[in-house]
Amino acid sequence: MAKKQFKTESKKLLDLMINSIYTHKEIFLRELISNASDALDKRHYLSLTDNSLASDTPLSISISVDKEKRILTIEDNGIGMDREDLEDNLGTIAHSGSMDFKSALESNEEVDIIGQFGVGFYSAFMVAQKIVVETRKTDEQGYRWVSSGQDGYSIDKMEKPDVGTRISLYLREDNEETSYSDYLDKYTIESLVKKYSDYIRYPITMMVEKSVEIEGKEGEYETVEEEKTLNTMVPLWRRNKSDITEEEYHNFYKSQFNDWNDPLETIHYSLEGKINYKALLYIPAKVPFDFYSKDYQAGLQLYSKGVFIMADAKDMIPPYYNFVKGLIDTDDVSLNISREMLQQDSQLQALNKSVAKRIKSTLVNMLVKEREKYEGFFKNFGYALKYGVYSDFGMNKTELQDLLLFYSSKEDKYVTLKEYKERMLESQNEIYYATGTSIEQIKKLPQLEQLSDKGYEVLYFVDNIDEFVIMMMRDYDGKPFQSAQKASTDIESAEEKTEKEKLARDNKDLFADLSKALADKVKEVRISSRLKTHPVCLVADDRGISMEMEKYLSQLPTGEEVKATKILEINPDHEIFKVLQQVYKTRKESIDDYADLLYQQALLIEGFPVDDPVDFSNKICQLMKEANN
Ligand code: ADP
Repeated sequence: MAKKQFKTESKKLLDLMINSIYTHKEIFLRELISNASDALDKRHYLSLTDNSLASDTPLSISISVDKEKRILTIEDNGIGMDREDLEDNLGTIAHSGSMDFKSALESNEEVDIIGQFGVGFYSAFMVAQKIVVETRKTDEQGYRWVSSGQDGYSIDKMEKPDVGTRISLYLREDNEETSYSDYLDKYTIESLVKKYSDYIRYPITMMVEKSVEIEGKEGEYETVEEEKTLNTMVPLWRRNKSDITEEEYHNFYKSQFNDWNDPLETIHYSLEGKINYKALLYIPAKVPFDFYSKDYQAGLQLYSKGVFIMADAKDMIPPYYNFVKGLIDTDDVSLNISREMLQQDSQLQALNKSVAKRIKSTLVNMLVKEREKYEGFFKNFGYALKYGVYSDFGMNKTELQDLLLFYSSKEDKYVTLKEYKERMLESQNEIYYATGTSIEQIKKLPQLEQLSDKGYEVLYFVDNIDEFVIMMMRDYDGKPFQSAQKASTDIESAEEKTEKEKLARDNKDLFADLSKALADKVKEVRISSRLKTHPVCLVADDRGISMEMEKYLSQLPTGEEVKATKILEINPDHEIFKVLQQVYKTRKESIDDYADLLYQQALLIEGFPVDDPVDFSNKICQLMKEANN
């Protein structure tokens, strides 16, 4: 039959495999065994409801080598593939689709691709010059798929007596860098199976030579062949915690969940009581490449008595812990439970709560005992927790609020709300925060001058979601949140208040005229009690949105413009205030321009564009001219 070409992305990946300089080529065996195991799972699962799929022989994977012809064969009696499956599964990359994957391919970062995306079947091309897949589903027609890589593949009908798949790798010739012959060595194969695939639930067998004493002839030996099962088959999570090494946990994680990096944290436990289950959960060390895309599959793998039931079972875990990878093995669900039934199962709702509790206690523990590690975690997945507080109408506030971190003005590092509250000044009733685009930018905000000076701690909000989160929370442990950029910040002593009131009275007309000059721009011009060295700042009226929110909303493609109601504050201790008083006395007609200039400056400081750049520039020029007259 005519050769067919691989789909474009597959071709690129294939080229990468064929020209691979990747040092861990051995992982191809893990990938093929894992595929075989999946195929066995599928057959087993379907046979529960369809008897015709049941196998006469035990489900297993067998490996054989032909040293002379340099062929390594991996065979399973799993579900098999028909022509369409072969086209769909081996002609294209199974888990491609996403743009990230395509762009990663373009960048040709080989190691990353092999690690991050788990290249699966194609990885065999790292060691094989030709691959033959002989396979049969239950419909009795077998197919042979043959490919030598770049030049495409062919699919032909063939006679195949048994259901299942046989994959033969024609190994490459050895060269200086790589001894491909190693994969014809039975000891090597055995140790690779032990290393990567020991927990596979089906026997992985191979014929091995064994020396036995010849019957009746003492001291004389002959070599016989016998079938050996290479793996112990006990799923890792069903083994004793104390017998499992960190490396085993990590290897399992990497192969099962397609990650190149070791996980940040491993959580392995079993619970007996009202609900019975074993859990093996991992917190990734890096954000999965598709985590923020809609392709990301949240959820845990579900097993019943060690038998795989479902991938990505979402109801096993609350959505705000969707970064957790792992599996649950429980005796309490039936093997053919559907996703819909799962949602309604009350046992599983209890299980969900129990899993959440364990994840939380792990995180709390990390926060207390390994702060730096926790901060790293929070950098990666803090957004998920924040989103968890925000969503569901704040229902999960108590669950999550103590896991949040915010950058502190006082500590110059990330702190918890609890730590903030414990440090609050005696007179302080509110938790202060300031919002901006970066920590550096917030540090320079004029609105924070007096606050810092008076010893108040301010939390810096740099995530868009932060303000939404505290809007939902309202308070932490009885202490309301207060923006340092809103009108109502109250940090003056009684004397300062009296003094300010007097100043306002004495300059009543000036402020009234300044307010009038900017009437269509601000609600009011008033004396500030939060500035120290800066002349002016803007604050938002308490009723209405914040200025950061205004910026955020203006980026959204909704078209509707929502604005913060702004107030212009003037520092009475600044030179500029005296200038204003002077101008007001001697050249009252200029006061409108001065008001406008100050307002435009305040806009700039706040990160807004000036209303009319040409007018702004003209007014500055005018001022410069006057200064030199
Ligand atoms: P993945 O296993 O991650 O989906 P692969 O590229 O390794 O990606 O495999 C592609 C697909 O080919 C699999 O999803 C599966 O449908 C099919 N496949 C691979 N190996 C086998 C096998 N031994 N038996 C049946 N189907 C297989």
